[in-house]
Amino acid sequence: MSKGNIGVTTENIFPIIKKFLYSDHEIFLRELVSNAVDASQKMKTLSSVGEFNGELGELKVSISIDEKAKTLTISDRGVGMTAEEIEKYINQIAFSGAEEFVDKYKDDANAIIGHFGLGFYSSFMVAKKVNIITQSHKDGAKAVKWTCDGSPEYTLEEVEKEDRGTDIVLHIDEENENFLQKAEITTLLNKYCKFLPVPVVFGNKTEWKDGKEEETAEENQINDVAPLWTRTPSELKDEDYNQFYKDLYPMSEDPIFNIHLNVDYPFNLTGVLYFPKIKNNVEVQKNKIQLYSNQVFITDSVENIVPEFLTLLHGVIDSPDIPLNVSRSYLQADGNVKKISNHITKKVADRLAEIFKADRADFEAKWDSLKLFIGYGMLTEEKFYDKAQKFSLFKNTDGKYFTFDEYKDIIKENQTDKDDQLVYLYTTNVEEQHSFIEAAKNKGYDVLVMDGQLDNHFVNHLEQKFEKSRFVRVDSDVAEKLIPKESTLESQLSAGDKDDLTSVFSAQVPNGDKMNFIVAFEAMGKDSSPAIITQQEFMRRMKEMSAMQGGGGMNFYGEMPDSYQLVVNENHPIVERILADKNEAVGKEADSLRSKIESLNGKRQELEKAKEGKKEEEIEQAQKDELADVDKKISELNTKKTEVLSKFSTDNKLVSQLIDLALLSNNMLKGEALTKFVKRSIDLI
Ligand code: ADP
Ligand code: MG
Repeated sequence: MSKGNIGVTTENIFPIIKKFLYSDHEIFLRELVSNAVDASQKMKTLSSVGEFNGELGELKVSISIDEKAKTLTISDRGVGMTAEEIEKYINQIAFSGAEEFVDKYKDDANAIIGHFGLGFYSSFMVAKKVNIITQSHKDGAKAVKWTCDGSPEYTLEEVEKEDRGTDIVLHIDEENENFLQKAEITTLLNKYCKFLPVPVVFGNKTEWKDGKEEETAEENQINDVAPLWTRTPSELKDEDYNQFYKDLYPMSEDPIFNIHLNVDYPFNLTGVLYFPKIKNNVEVQKNKIQLYSNQVFITDSVENIVPEFLTLLHGVIDSPDIPLNVSRSYLQADGNVKKISNHITKKVADRLAEIFKADRADFEAKWDSLKLFIGYGMLTEEKFYDKAQKFSLFKNTDGKYFTFDEYKDIIKENQTDKDDQLVYLYTTNVEEQHSFIEAAKNKGYDVLVMDGQLDNHFVNHLEQKFEKSRFVRVDSDVAEKLIPKESTLESQLSAGDKDDLTSVFSAQVPNGDKMNFIVAFEAMGKDSSPAIITQQEFMRRMKEMSAMQGGGGMNFYGEMPDSYQLVVNENHPIVERILADKNEAVGKEADSLRSKIESLNGKRQELEKAKEGKKEEEIEQAQKDELADVDKKISELNTKKTEVLSKFSTDNKLVSQLIDLALLSNNMLKGEALTKFVKRSIDLI
């Protein structure tokens, strides 16, 4: 037996490991099993290149628990170690500037272990004593047992060992006795070792017999040694991909399609990514990609490793080139990680382009599920936008799909306004904006459906990308004015008529704290609606933006009432009838009031003129009084006129009926107002 001191430059690393690495204790198992797997694979390699001529036998890694002795053992039939190799690989660990580094990354065991290649020593996070019992494959090598209790002292002695390979025996300490439980170890093996390339065995399979769980004779193998992503794509069928998806995410619906990644230059990367069926809640579907390094599970939080929008994908990425056991901040700055991330983005875009080309009908059928993902990518990754604009689709209200270019060609003729801007009409709700969609279609316009979670942003984004184009929601104006062109219809109303009708309609619109209406007139066709409610595009978008940003200081737009226009069709027969009714009932009175107001206005202008060029103190008091008197009279007459017209409006059922119909087609007629409308409708019949 020999004794010695572990070669570290710092006094003693074990207290540091124990003290600082209080999180992530469980990764010791990953480290020890992957060492065992490495040793087994080296054995395979030696045999295949002819450097080992003995019996290779079955190469597997076994994990066992001895509850009485409180030990956990990881055994392999790999290359093993000679006494010299233990001295070299275990005892001499390069460890400089340790304390400083450990202090900095004390919450991140991965960083420390990765940085120093301390894989094996992570066993001291959970064990008070560790034995290595190992028999090298080398001819004539003697089996040795290394023992260390966590102090820098170790002992090394010759022992008998039946088989080639290594047993790592952990004497688990009191605080970590959970690692002596079968269930715990099963969970960890399933998490970290599910796809290791050498069989990993933990006890025997069990079955339920007479209400008891009993062991069978069959070994319990944890892993699939050749997981799907390591296999050749041409040998795999859709079913295989779907089955693997089910293995990864047992409760999920089948994915829409997959991308098999296989890169060996300029870095190594394999993997399979899946497009899941995206549901409404994006958040819960994020971060399901699993990251592996040579089939060893590393993490399932891939933020900063793949672009944000790709975190919506599911699946596996395996790369020995991602520096996996360093801390997150390391990862973000790492050049390789950026390259890999760009590459994945490119691959995903290429694959989508391929599917689009190969089977457009299928792509369209899947579009509704793909849309959120692609839109997200286009909004956040410039490079992805450039590729995706060739296969990203618009869907119109007839359920037809178009690429951006195709759509442009279709609307160019009819939807270019007088300033040569192309107007894209869209709806955010096919049901609620139905009457506007119909009106636009009657004018030969096409309407896009933009009812997705991100479409608000998407519309803004496209407006910046497309030249000489703008997006207009279909209910933001009457059909005649959605796309302003040179020719407009002649109006049939005089200025006086419009003035009166403004008062008549204003008296009945439901103005309040939350809503504010302005009455406007438009010469539309006789077949168009008599009255329509529109909401200004600009104001609506501002309000939507401020709603999305949530409350807080600058919520100026959010607090404004919603402002609408009641647009009255000057040429509609019902409006003509209201006008005729008005003329009959109060026409004379309104006219006489108006002519009085007009003559007073004339007088007012004269008085104003007389004031012109004079300073305030040069104006005579009598003059000032007279002007004030005229203003007062005008205001009184105006009030009177409004009263007369309002009275008429209240008595005239048609006015309320038209307004209610307009509200109804905007889904804005509710509660008591709706009840009244129904009653009035019956009366009118
Ligand atoms: P790394 O695996 O990064 O080299 P570790 O601390 O995990 O660092 O292991 C140190 C070295 O110890 C390994 O490189 C290997 O040479 C040796 N070793 C560890 N475990 C075994 C094992 N089960 N069989 C053979 N050699 C091993
Ligand atoms: Mg290791």
